Amino acid sequence: MKYGLKQLRKDFPNDKACLQFAFDALHSRECSCGGKYRLVEGRKQFYCSKCRFQIAPLSGTIFEKSSTPLTLWWHALWIFSNAKSGISAKELERQLAVTYKTAWRILSQIRKALKQDGKLSGDVEMDTAYFGGRYKSGKYNEKQKEAIAAKSVVMGAIERGGKARLMIVPDSTATFLQK
Ligand SMILES: [Zn+2]
Repeated sequence: MKYGLKQLRKDFPNDKACLQFAFDALHSRECSCGGKYRLVEGRKQFYCSKCRFQIAPLSGTIFEKSSTPLTLWWHALWIFSNAKSGISAKELERQLAVTYKTAWRILSQIRKALKQDGKLSGDVEMDTAYFGGRYKSGKYNEKQKEAIAAKSVVMGAIERGGKARLMIVPDSTATFLQK
């Protein structure tokens, strides 16, 4: 079933609910010290009940430094993900009942965030590794081929000093990896 606006409003009735969702997406509610993270009332910050460590779940996200309510951001994300052929700032302005400037800013932030999740850039290094598959290759490695075939090939690509991507691939031949 489609995730409707009614459901969105029900799941995220206020900014507190959005904030909790953002926190849960990135952190565990349990602190490594054994304490539990709680929202600092009236702030966009969580603190550990035991060691008092603080976490700002929105820092480093597109919601950071925005004065737009999170419920409105969530609504914008909902509209964006439902617009099959894209959406204009003008249309977002109308649907969210915000100024054109706000709509434009929200839209460009969403687009920027999605782009960041796309292709790796700069110097990207790649390698493959074999994982799992218990199969004895024999005393003289005579069954090496079978043993390797029983394993999964995992390909990794990493931006030098940056983001990494991992995926399971059918084989590690150069022709496939190049593709
Ligand atoms: Zn703690």
